[in-house]
Amino acid sequence: MSPLFSKSNDDWFLPEDVRKQLLKTFDSLKNTVVLETFAQPGENDEFAEYMNKFCRDLAKLTDKIVVREHEIPSARAEELGVTASPTLCINPDDYYIRFLGAPVGEEGKAFITAIVLVSLGMHGLSDVSGPLLEQLNEERMVQVFVSPTCPYCPGQSMSAIKGAIAKPGLIKAEIVEMNENPELTKRYNVGSVPHTIINDGAHSALGLMPEERFIVEMIYLKDAEELLAEGALPGMDGKHIPSQYGNIEPGEVDLVIIGAGPAGLTAGIYAIRAGLTAVVLEKNIVGGQVALTPVVENYPGFANVPGKQLMDIMSEHAREYTPVHEGEGVESIQMGDPEKDEPMIITTNRGQYTTKGIILSTGAVYRQLGAPGETRYFGRGINYCASCDGYLYKGKKVAIIGGGNTALTDALHLKNLGVDVTIIHRRDTFRAQQSLQDSIEHEGIPVLWNTVVEEIQGDEMRVNNLQLRNIKDGTMTNLSVDGAFIAIGQVPTTDLAKEMGVTIKEDGYVEVDTTMRTNIPRVYAAGDITGGLQQIVTAIGEGSIAAMSAFEDLSHPYWKK
Ligand code: NAP
Repeated sequence: MSPLFSKSNDDWFLPEDVRKQLLKTFDSLKNTVVLETFAQPGENDEFAEYMNKFCRDLAKLTDKIVVREHEIPSARAEELGVTASPTLCINPDDYYIRFLGAPVGEEGKAFITAIVLVSLGMHGLSDVSGPLLEQLNEERMVQVFVSPTCPYCPGQSMSAIKGAIAKPGLIKAEIVEMNENPELTKRYNVGSVPHTIINDGAHSALGLMPEERFIVEMIYLKDAEELLAEGALPGMDGKHIPSQYGNIEPGEVDLVIIGAGPAGLTAGIYAIRAGLTAVVLEKNIVGGQVALTPVVENYPGFANVPGKQLMDIMSEHAREYTPVHEGEGVESIQMGDPEKDEPMIITTNRGQYTTKGIILSTGAVYRQLGAPGETRYFGRGINYCASCDGYLYKGKKVAIIGGGNTALTDALHLKNLGVDVTIIHRRDTFRAQQSLQDSIEHEGIPVLWNTVVEEIQGDEMRVNNLQLRNIKDGTMTNLSVDGAFIAIGQVPTTDLAKEMGVTIKEDGYVEVDTTMRTNIPRVYAAGDITGGLQQIVTAIGEGSIAAMSAFEDLSHPYWKK
């Protein structure tokens, strides 16, 4: 279970460091927040106990939080229509914000942020989303299915919760912990989190969406792409909503760092310490691919640390120096002439920045297998993030496809969760580190060597079979599975680099010299986007070098020599 809940002493449930952090956060509370908890004895007792102990600690930390505990059934449960055990409601007389299941793990963050926003009476939506939401005049019930280890989930939960605060009469937000609510999870065929269901399935969405996109799709109950095709969103590019929808002031910084993985965060720290002004823009969540890695064992100083935890520590450190804007994606970049000292102008979904330098640390995304059935069953048995979705397969049978560090780390993680795992690899040797290979052997995880997936098959609802081919003898076999995790490497995110005219190498990665300079003056690149070893430590090294090169060039521009 989450470290949030490890017992520290007899009086407190939350450990001391978490309580200290919460005390700081609760300094900002203004109005009293009422937490009403509901539990039915015999139903998810362990989680109900966690929820109540967690909430009682919060009330002990500040007199701005009041806890009322109820049973199911009870008059209050009936009045509010609460049936799931446990359920946690925040200020239920004013808002419909409910956690179905204890807010454990990652969801604890959304819970605490929701308390703060409710106490301040603020919805916290961006300058773009807030005005957009004004268009909504119908009721919306938003259910966000989450898991405790999904780093993307709190972001999606918060978009729903912010909506519920902004439009209390119209928007209901339910954060549904999938393990504690198996019937709901099954009813909506949830196979990957976050999974958002709006108005009982009138619209649904997989994954974390930028807040602005979430708001648009919640209003129209349609995919942004569909709305675009209908011409309903003039000027929108499908991912972002342009600045015409918001009232946005441009910002001026020396350096804009695009991407908040280890490379971008490190670049932010080094840039500010060198005396530059900088901002780190991240269209998703901080931490990049590492935040999705169940366990990291080769980052010096941490013998064994969950990837998300490591990135939380790193981003907290970076934020002491530089602003890190999550959910802010770059739409376009106007390059300007370096010879004439013209600034570059970066337009995002939230605003505009003029800058003298750019560091591209946009990382890489999962490579797709390309087998028939992969797209059809994505989120319905086909997954790419073992940290996020592993919990769904406890006691079930799953295949992992790939033979690199990610595949083997994920296989060990799933095995540890109680999943029956088989690895499918196209060759007869792994490329993963020897220590991981030893662990796979030690755990007795079966491997189908020299095997490729020809087709992913299933019924109307979910994956149930993988059709396999042995590449040595051509034999075709079937592997009956409940799901499959695809871990066959990364594709660098180079769209922006290409738009800017940055040279891309034959292997698809950005070309840099040893100082992380690209071919374009004032543009640097660092981390997975540059290819090579692709380790956290190398990304960090590259981030620091890129920032120092930018610093050097801003004071002594080599293009003017
Ligand atoms: P990777 O090292 O590129 O490995 C990809 C694996 O997928 C390879 O085994 C490859 O097979 C297989 N593959 C590729 N395309 C395929 C296809 N179309 N069909 C079937 N199999 C296919 O990718 P990764 O494991 O995601 O790692 C990416 C980077 O992150 C690496 O630099 C890695 O070291 C790093 N990483 C490090 C750690 C760690 O140090 N703890 C953890 C995770 C990732 P072949 O072997 O036959 O090419």
